[in-house]
Amino acid sequence: MADVKKVRVVVIGSGPAGLTAALYTARALYSTVVITGNHLGGQIATTSDVDNFPGFPEGIQGPELTERMRAQAERFGAEFVFDEVTEVDFEHGSPYRVKTYGAEYLADSVVVTIGASPRHLNIPGEVEYTGYGVSYCATCDGFFFREKDVIVVGGGDSALQEGLFLTKFAKSVTIVHRRDELRASTALKKRAFANPKIKFIYDTVVDEVKGETLEGGIRKTTGVTLRNVKTDAVTDQPIDGVFIFIGYDPNSRVFGDQLATNDDGYMLVDEKMRTSAEGVFAGGEIHDFVFRQAITAAGQGCAAALSAIHWLEERGDELQPLEDAAPALETAPGA
Ligand code: NAP
Repeated sequence: MADVKKVRVVVIGSGPAGLTAALYTARALYSTVVITGNHLGGQIATTSDVDNFPGFPEGIQGPELTERMRAQAERFGAEFVFDEVTEVDFEHGSPYRVKTYGAEYLADSVVVTIGASPRHLNIPGEVEYTGYGVSYCATCDGFFFREKDVIVVGGGDSALQEGLFLTKFAKSVTIVHRRDELRASTALKKRAFANPKIKFIYDTVVDEVKGETLEGGIRKTTGVTLRNVKTDAVTDQPIDGVFIFIGYDPNSRVFGDQLATNDDGYMLVDEKMRTSAEGVFAGGEIHDFVFRQAITAAGQGCAAALSAIHWLEERGDELQPLEDAAPALETAPGA
């Protein structure tokens, strides 16, 4: 049976929303455990230049911003657990059970900031060559494409921002977009159009990633099959790397139907960031599919934490005594 740790607040997720939430609850002197997920920082930690987070006039790298936010929350006592949530019990009221691979927590309040994950194209070769030329993270993998030719799939802010970042390394960056008009913001379009290393192919989708297996079993991407959606013309283009930035899906699956979501899986919250379970709050991209900025996520994480703090304060004496031992999830009432 796993050890059960009693805590006032568990924050699930460690992007800007989670790190801000933890800063607030810890600073309000509520014991706070942050379950970080499989990498600290979420999407922002894999973003290169963050130019639009207030307070950094010269811009800041995503990993550095993450580290600064983590250190700030830690300064007030937030505890970071590098683990993933595997199971929760939000159905039997507070204190809530949150189970990870390595431990189990009994939390008076939970702040869900588990974010969203990159969408896949679901085309032949995509899975096979992921890590061997196919990537969803320019910050992580750009370095491996020095003087190489890469394509970026997508027409939104991510595609252009990461495409611009890739020009630091790659010989050429071709942005392949399924329509004839980019979705990205004017500022990013302006920068991308002005960059001599960036080319655009419009009205086109990628149907297949092609590659080969080298000696020793190492795989290598060698090209893509492109299809013009207007003419149906198919061309094979040799390429060294394929970076896919076609949006994100919310990571709400672990909660099953214990928290209300919309049809796309985004968590429903009210104006106080309250989810459908009392004492459980949410912020960031797990519910926000509109703004999706690091700064809006941080703001929503703050709002969710403030609501958690108010909720805990109102409960006062009813809170679980933290020193008592607690039974593990398997023995939860009605579980
Ligand atoms: P997005 O805005 O949803 O754009 C996704 C792009 O991928 C769209 O151009 C879409 O085409 C295309 N796409 C979607 N599914 C596809 C498929 N199956 N095959 C081919 N193309 C496909 O996603 P995002 O660029 O990741 O941005 C997400 C949010 O984060 C946005 O709100 C954005 O403003 C924000 N963001 C901001 C910054 C910044 O401010 N610096 C940077 C990154 C992201 P269609 O256009 O035809 O739908």
